Amino acid sequence: MLRSTSLRRIALIALTLALLATASFAAPKNVILLIGDGMGVGPVAAGRIGSVGPNGRLTVDTMPFTGFALTHSANRLVTDSAAAGTALATGVKTNNGTISMDPDGKRLKTILELARDLGKSTGLISTSYITDATPAVFASHVSSRGKTEDIAAQMLASRVDVILGGGKRFFTPKSKGGVREDERNLMDEATKRGYSAFDSADALTNCKSDKFIGLFADHVMTSDRPEPTIAEMTDKTVSTLSKNAKGFFIMSEGGKIDHLAHGNNKDGVIKEMTMFDDAVKVALDFAKKDGQTLVVVTADHDTGGMAMHEPSDESPKFTAGWTTKSHTGNMVPVYAYGPGAELFTGTLDNTDIPNNIAKLWGRKLN
Ligand SMILES: [Zn+2]
Repeated sequence: MLRSTSLRRIALIALTLALLATASFAAPKNVILLIGDGMGVGPVAAGRIGSVGPNGRLTVDTMPFTGFALTHSANRLVTDSAAAGTALATGVKTNNGTISMDPDGKRLKTILELARDLGKSTGLISTSYITDATPAVFASHVSSRGKTEDIAAQMLASRVDVILGGGKRFFTPKSKGGVREDERNLMDEATKRGYSAFDSADALTNCKSDKFIGLFADHVMTSDRPEPTIAEMTDKTVSTLSKNAKGFFIMSEGGKIDHLAHGNNKDGVIKEMTMFDDAVKVALDFAKKDGQTLVVVTADHDTGGMAMHEPSDESPKFTAGWTTKSHTGNMVPVYAYGPGAELFTGTLDNTDIPNNIAKLWGRKLN
């Protein structure tokens, strides 16, 4: 009797240990989250077929763990970037138009703020204006995405180490050609806070500082010289923030896949998708060498409902079909590589993405 009790106890301990082994994943020191705004499966297919052909492969196609994310918001089947971004940044669904607050107006903690609290360095990159909804949700909290002047001020106050993108006008006083009614010059304030502040690709290349803000366009970036590309911005940010022994969190957004898909511009989507994929390659190359970096690539929502059709004389690679000039409620792809990547498979909710990252760091977000 005594013997069978102790045997049962041993069996129970063995079972518990086995369960613990399957439930715990390696914790990534660094996380690079790349968001293709509007990057449903259509833009991914367009980028592949349009650049390397149907038998070629983009960098995202080589990532070992894949899944889908659901994108509906708290109040709509078809989300906007503010609500979708809030889900990707905080793990909570909110109403369309809201930046990292819940539907009742409660402030939500973001994965970037958690990383900062853990002593990690942080960076935000976008080819759109940096106060646009996707970068905004990681470092600001406002009731409406239109409050871009508040977003800019909060972003700076949140102590993000690296800020790169467009949108200089939101940091510049009205009297100096910007849009700030409060006449604050946030680029000057950034310098006083210890940031290097600049507006050209050359200055980015030559920057030796560990904290910098580079705003390369008044509004959305062109990515043509003298502006840097998203790959160059991502590369510089990774090489700078990787000096922190506690690690880093970087969000890098290809913001213009969405813009071109709104215009049902096939060639524009191909170009933006391949440029975004170049940034994914930068992240993946670093992660492969580093071995402690989780790379997650996803979208906030699909834009345009883009589909591939047989080529025609005018469109020798493929013909694009579109269902809308707005967003759709389609699922979006998720790609992952690195420690913990196995958590990003199957059909996920968009809120699972930051919640899984927080879980890997042994924390809860909201
Ligand atoms: Zn959009």
